[in-house]
Amino acid sequence: MAKSTGKTKKTYQFKAELNQLLHLIVHSLYTHPEVFLRELISNASDALNKVRFMQLTNQEICDPQAELKIKIDLDEKKQLFTIEDSGIGMTEDELITNIGTVANSGTLKFLEEIQKKGKKPEGDLIGQFGVGFYSVFMVTDEVIIETQHANPDSKAYRWISDGKGTFTIEEIDRKKRGTTISFRLKDEHKDFAQEYRVKSVIQRYSNFVDFPIQLGKEKINKVEALWRRPKDEIKEDELTEFYKFIANDFEAPLGHLHLSLEGTVNFKALLFIPPKAPLNLFYDLENRGLHLYSNRIFIQDDAKELLPDYLKFVRGVVDTEDLPLNISREVTQHSPVMQKIRSILTTRILGLMEDWSKNDPGKYEKLIKNFGPLFKTGLNSDFANREKILKLLRFESTAKPKGELVSLDDYVSRMKKKQKEIYYITGESRDVIEKNPNLEYFRKNDYEVLLLTDPVDIFIIPSINEYDKKPLKSIEKADIDLEEEQKGGDGKPEETLSSEMLESLIKIFKETLGEKVADVKASKRLVNSPVTLVVGKDGLDPQMERMMKLMNQEVTPQKKILEINPAHPIIKNLARRNIGSSTDPILRKTIMQLYESAMLIEGNLDNPTEYVQRMNELLEEATK
Ligand code: ADP
Repeated sequence: MAKSTGKTKKTYQFKAELNQLLHLIVHSLYTHPEVFLRELISNASDALNKVRFMQLTNQEICDPQAELKIKIDLDEKKQLFTIEDSGIGMTEDELITNIGTVANSGTLKFLEEIQKKGKKPEGDLIGQFGVGFYSVFMVTDEVIIETQHANPDSKAYRWISDGKGTFTIEEIDRKKRGTTISFRLKDEHKDFAQEYRVKSVIQRYSNFVDFPIQLGKEKINKVEALWRRPKDEIKEDELTEFYKFIANDFEAPLGHLHLSLEGTVNFKALLFIPPKAPLNLFYDLENRGLHLYSNRIFIQDDAKELLPDYLKFVRGVVDTEDLPLNISREVTQHSPVMQKIRSILTTRILGLMEDWSKNDPGKYEKLIKNFGPLFKTGLNSDFANREKILKLLRFESTAKPKGELVSLDDYVSRMKKKQKEIYYITGESRDVIEKNPNLEYFRKNDYEVLLLTDPVDIFIIPSINEYDKKPLKSIEKADIDLEEEQKGGDGKPEETLSSEMLESLIKIFKETLGEKVADVKASKRLVNSPVTLVVGKDGLDPQMERMMKLMNQEVTPQKKILEINPAHPIIKNLARRNIGSSTDPILRKTIMQLYESAMLIEGNLDNPTEYVQRMNELLEEATK
């Protein structure tokens, strides 16, 4: 251990959130203790990349002769583990801020929820959440970090913590640039002090680390750029291991794309479709990017410009000779080379998706179920590829059992002769939608309806307008063009209300509901239900209304049109009561109850107490 300079040792408190998080990580959530190895190596490799970048950009660094490498030393008897890198190191501030905070503020909440449900998270959560370093507390009770930043003016520091609330930092005498992390392994994890054990964990991915890894006296990896090898020389399991390494994943990817382009722009790319979506698709992918290399030299691991947002689920590397090595982030962002690569990658990824959708539908369905919500947003942002994206969309549909998806082309191919529009309905889940009375007409008359259950749909589908010249139409809108069908099986019209009785009843409905509804009309779309609510032509989709409420947005309650089913027994009974006495209290109570039931089905009933009270009153009448 380096000597302390004798200056005061300062004690710091971890942020409260971090304490809880640590507790969760160490005690209940983590299933793969060997993950700490990959996390430490990947941090060391990042630190080495950063110092190499300083060298390339001719910045002055301390200890310039030091070889760029990672060194691991083990002491089996004493159960000691040490990992050292000659990377960029950390300043005092960086020790305090980088090793004391959680990158993703939603992390704790997420982990707590998972824990509450009594589940262990699948795969490697730590990596996803940017709290990798802390995984080390799974295998040890105390960690010592000694570090010297590459900036020649920086001092060296020692950080010590038991991961339980506080850490100390003191200045030390250390001449070496970089970071040394050491700790004594807990008894139950002492196997990580055995060389063969550590070697077997690291070997799987060590060849993808850009720097030599030395274990004891032995270099255990050859540094190679997999993407530069000819396609047919790369084995499937090498691809899998490479994916796991760069994506911090435990599972094999769904598939990959290996590109080597020469022409107006020259680059090689190795891209992967992950097998699963991150827990929070939109949030977790927001700052993602591909790893960017310039002529085999690592430039950055989050080159966001290389993919449009809606394809951010793709992971991988791009290596180009067309960018100067010392390129800064600001320059990469606006570089025409990056624009060209992005446009080629977009085309190729959409091409891969199209290929899967035709030739490997099972795989494509997995992709869409995982990443569909993000992918769809491309419709609103990538107008050049709109047609392709439209063809790649998949939805649940009344024509297929739950869980099976259809494309717009499938839908169009099944449309009835006289059908001019593509029908859809939105809702929280398939089960909820299937109970929506607005579906009744379509079910009875065998019209297919797309069932949109993804919360994103409501922001995207209305913008489609039409597909293959057929307008997309919500079946919850009042202006839908329904043909009057013959009711009853034998062609005879079913016994229904006389127009006078109906008109008089509608008048009572309007009086009772007053300002609550925009209008009351006789319905063509109902079969089994007494009433339903529909939206005016320019009205807000009910699903959108529900979403906005969920997001705590001000929504002016919009008045809907109540449609009533003149063939329904309740409506007929009400019409009869109305003739008896238009002031009959049961009549008005039932009307209010029917209206609120329709609100309830939509998910928009705000006050269930009154509803239940009224129901009890009606039940009392009925059981008299
Ligand atoms: P992540 O690597 O996802 O950012 P970590 O918890 O693993 O999260 O690390 C937090 C931060 O600590 C890193 O981003 C880096 O700034 C710093 N760090 C960790 N290990 C090292 C190292 N060996 N050398 C320099 N900095 C490091």
